[in-house]
Amino acid sequence: MKNLSPRDLVFTVTGSLSFMLLLVLYGLTRIAGLQLPFWVVLGLPLVNFVTGYFLLSFLLEKFIYRRVKVVYKTINNLKAPKNATQMPLRINEDILSNVEREVVDWTKRQTQEIEKLKSSDSYRKEFIGNVSHELKTPIFNIQGYIHTLIDGGLYDEKINKSYLYKASQNLDRLSAIVEDLETISQLETNALSLDIRKFDFVKLMKEVFENLEMQADLKDISLLFKEDSPKTINVMADRERVRQVLTNLTSNSIKYGKQQGTTSVGIYDMHDNVLIEITDDGIGMAEEHLPRLFERFYRVDKSRARDQGGTGLGLSIVKHIVEAHHQTINVRSTVGVGSTFGFTLKKA
Ligand code: ADP
Repeated sequence: MKNLSPRDLVFTVTGSLSFMLLLVLYGLTRIAGLQLPFWVVLGLPLVNFVTGYFLLSFLLEKFIYRRVKVVYKTINNLKAPKNATQMPLRINEDILSNVEREVVDWTKRQTQEIEKLKSSDSYRKEFIGNVSHELKTPIFNIQGYIHTLIDGGLYDEKINKSYLYKASQNLDRLSAIVEDLETISQLETNALSLDIRKFDFVKLMKEVFENLEMQADLKDISLLFKEDSPKTINVMADRERVRQVLTNLTSNSIKYGKQQGTTSVGIYDMHDNVLIEITDDGIGMAEEHLPRLFERFYRVDKSRARDQGGTGLGLSIVKHIVEAHHQTINVRSTVGVGSTFGFTLKKA
């Protein structure tokens, strides 16, 4: 009964009514003794069936199905591309079930879409709040130093140079934030196309170590390759973007590394991919921070990270770049022991 098509329903209703009419007419002739000709007893229910069937079908079509069709077509138009062929609807199809299914599906999809939009909207609001907060600090600092200098500090030998130096440091910070934001926005809008080429990963890693040598020397940190690392290994990737990943990860390992510590790089051949692990023996992080670590502006220890000159965007950029290569990145860490960031690249 549940999956009866409308045409079946009309057939059943008019059929039952006609059968009842036949029984009544038969009863009248047999029991009540009414003299009715045979063709009337059979003909009337037949005429009733045929006219009832067409009349009910017509009314159903006119007053219910045409309206249901409009709903069905609207939903179909909303979800199907313009050139997609429409499914024609006929009264003898079980459109009510179709429509019910389509409406439920459609509602589910719309609810998901709305949830997605809501969450991206709150993400956007949070992001704008974060950006203005991050920009405010160096701007206020610069304002403070410059105003003090204008108000006479310029002639005070004790502060004039150091204030100018501090103002310029804050300007550097401002410019680093803006640069990182620009990179993120390019990565997110896919405006930045990757220049995938074959190159020797070990050579690139050595270049990154050389560039960060001075930063490492300040904390007496050694930058090393793990003993069993290959002397050369070719990968397919965007060399400059991978350089950025390695620079951010190695620079973090120094920033959050301990005095006289070690940063080591392990390179592992894994069939199709190469796994790269950058390990430090620095301050490490508690487990609870790890799932959110790659979010924009997420910092474990806010004041410490800012003191280190971080923008809070480094790891977010790293993740974007790795994912743009269709590869993955992960992190393991223990407080007081150190951290390991591992990511993969396609082997050439
Ligand atoms: P930042 O510019 O603040 O360094 P990142 O996005 O590079 O921003 O890193 C986010 C946060 O993750 C840092 O503020 C720091 O708290 C933590 N972090 C990153 N790398 C390490 C590491 N190697 N050891 C300990 N903590 C780290």
